[in-house]
Formats: sequence, structure tokens, C-alpha cells
Amino acid sequence: MMMYASHLECSVCSTTYDLDQVIGTCRCGEPLLTRYRLDAVRRDLSPADFVHRPNTMFRYRELLPLSERSSPVSLGEGMTPLLKADRLAQALGMQAGKLWIKDEGLNPTGSFKARGAALGITRLRELQVKKAILPTAGNAGGAWAAYGSRGGVGIVVIVPQRAPDVNKGEAELAGAETYVVDGLISDAGKIADKLAQENGWFNVSTLKEPFRLEGKKTMGLEIAEQLNWRLPDVVVYPAGGGVGLIAMWKAFQELRELGWVTGDLPRMVAVQATGCAPIVRAWQEGRSESQHWDNAETIASGLCVPKPKGDKLMLQALRESRGTAVAVSDDEIRAAHRTAGRLEGMIICPEGAAAVAGLEKLVQSAWIKPDDEVVVLNTGTGLKYPHLFNLDLKQLR
Ligand SMILES: *Cc1c(COP(=O)(O)O)cnc(C)c1O
Ligand SMILES: [Zn+2]
Repeated sequence: MMMYASHLECSVCSTTYDLDQVIGTCRCGEPLLTRYRLDAVRRDLSPADFVHRPNTMFRYRELLPLSERSSPVSLGEGMTPLLKADRLAQALGMQAGKLWIKDEGLNPTGSFKARGAALGITRLRELQVKKAILPTAGNAGGAWAAYGSRGGVGIVVIVPQRAPDVNKGEAELAGAETYVVDGLISDAGKIADKLAQENGWFNVSTLKEPFRLEGKKTMGLEIAEQLNWRLPDVVVYPAGGGVGLIAMWKAFQELRELGWVTGDLPRMVAVQATGCAPIVRAWQEGRSESQHWDNAETIASGLCVPKPKGDKLMLQALRESRGTAVAVSDDEIRAAHRTAGRLEGMIICPEGAAAVAGLEKLVQSAWIKPDDEVVVLNTGTGLKYPHLFNLDLKQLR
């Protein structure tokens, strides 16, 4: 029974913690990162070994905090298609064959949040945690509810009144105790913190526990495997809490250390909405930390995070990868949403549409060159956003 994960390490003060303890954040309050004995992974495993593995994200179990004895709580998440988008590439003036969209909308519960919840619940079950709580205004609640029910871990979800009905409904339908509160996601977060403290429930808010990030890391591992252990020049990601961006960057660094990929790592791009762009502002001002974004508002609800807990890690990933951050307006998001449907037949989520709009801006400004190979993340299915459908139908008489 070998676990290749060795310990948890604070992302800021480097204090280390045992993996077998139930712990959320460092005692300094900052996020914890899972560290591995990569030399042992390199010795025991090679990329060819993955070919015959199950077609889910758990195929990468040596690069997750799991042992051979772990039994994953799975609904078939991961190994989502990496689709070539030649018609979109052509419309943007990019070279054919160089643009890919990774379609996370095919995950259980319709978004990549399934990856974080699948690993999170697998670990919580192993650690014998009985109940967990999270605030959410979007896809996280439904994902944690689904995996919680499947794994036998109780889930409490706190949702702001203004969150879409589909997100309240999916959490409730998948068996979570679902509470609606007045106010914003930050208010839901405070209530979740308080209830977690009072009741001894584990708090699985974004980056207040280490496993969601490791689950999302599998997006980066899959991109490498699906490109036959090659990495693209640029990865474009719609960043809210930023977990996916931080996680993919961690994946790429681990793959480089393993020697499974060579050459430059991708330049990471964080796309945000002009109505809530704390990372873009911090990036432009050269800061290593963001400042709270007042009156945040955008149709891309997953990007509406006024002060991400992972801001320092996100900005660090942008710096280290020689990436950038760019903001797009809701009108640009709407236009990209339509473009993806019309050119590629993909009903993408507004966050994915933001990423496509960001790509367009960076191609126009020549930050992305026509022959750069680019992977854009569509983080969820557009079918969960019927409130954004703008039906423009002709009447047949
Ligand atoms: C949560 C969410 C995001 C933002 O994810 P982070 O990794 O926290 O930045 C983007 N798109 C969708 C569809 C989401 O549900
Ligand atoms: Zn610390």
C-alpha cells in the first residue's frame, strides 16, 4: 500500500502537515498544497502505463493523495474531450490545428467542479469525516452534493438568494441540506464558516481544504496525456477562485519534474469579467495580492469572486509562467457564447465564453501569435444556464 503523496505544505510559510490528519488550512490561514515523492513516481511509473487505465481522472492516482487501497468515489468524471476548434481558429485568424477546447461540460453535474468534489469526498470518506459544508453561488454545491451522497458524506450547502435556481435545485436534488440566505456569496461564506465552527463540520470552501485543488489538477494531467505528453504554448482559463488555474500550473510543474514533458511550460492566462476583475487589476498594477472588488457583477457567475483566497497563488502562476490576465465585458461574453455554438456546435457556459472572448482579445493584441498552440478551458455546460438563452426565433406562419 503505497501513497506517493507525502505531506501537506503551506503555500506561504512552508509549514508541513501530516496527510492523515483532518486539516483545512495552515495555522497561518493560507492554503495547503499536497506534495509528492516524485522520484518514487518516476521510478515506478511511466506515461505508457496510463494507456490501459480507467477512463476517469482517477487514472492518475499516483499523482493524487490516494493509495492503492483507496476506493474512489466516482461518477465517471474526467477524461473530457480535448476538441480541435479549427473553425473558431480560422475566424480568429489563428492557424488551423492549433486551437483546442477542453470541454469540461461533459463531467457529471455539468462542470469541472466534479473533479474537486470527487477527490474531496474520496479523501473525506477515508479520513472518516461525516459532514461538510460549503457556500456556493454556482456549480460547486451540486457537485459536492452529488459526490457526498454517492460517498456517504453529509453535505450542507449555503446558497445566496440570487443564485440561479438550477444550482439551488441540483444541490437539493442530489441530497444536500440546502439553505438559501439573503446577501452575496461573501455573506454565505461567513455563515458557512460560523456553522462549520459551531457544529464541527468540515469546511470545504474554495482553498479552505487542500483536495479540491488536487482533483482539478487532473485537467492539466489530461491535457498533457491527450496531446501525447506534449504541452501547449498557452492555456486560457476563466478564473474566479482560480483553483483550476493554480491546479493546472501545479500539474505542469510536477510533470516537468517527472521528466514526462520537456521544454517550456504553457503561459497561463486568467480571464475575468470587467464587472469583477480583481486579478486583472492586481496583475496590471504589478501586485502579488488582489484587493477586494466592490459591487462585483457579471453574467459569468463562476467568475464573480471579489477577493479570491488563492489570489497570491494565481498571480504567482501568471508570473512564473510568463502569462497574463485579461478582462472581458458581459457583451463580449454573450457574443463569444453565440460564436462557439455557431462555429463549433458547442453550448458552452458563460465562463467558458469569457475564456473564448479573452482568447480573441489576446490574438488581436498579438500576445498570442497565430501559430501558438492554445488550449481553452470550457469549464461547464451551457445547458445549466437557460436564464442566459436569448431566444431569437423566427415565427413560422
Ligand atoms: C467555479 C467555476 C469557475 C471558476 O473556477 P475557479 O477554478 O475557482 O477559478 C469557472 N467556470 C465555472 C463553470 C465554474 O463553475
Ligand atoms: Zn502557513
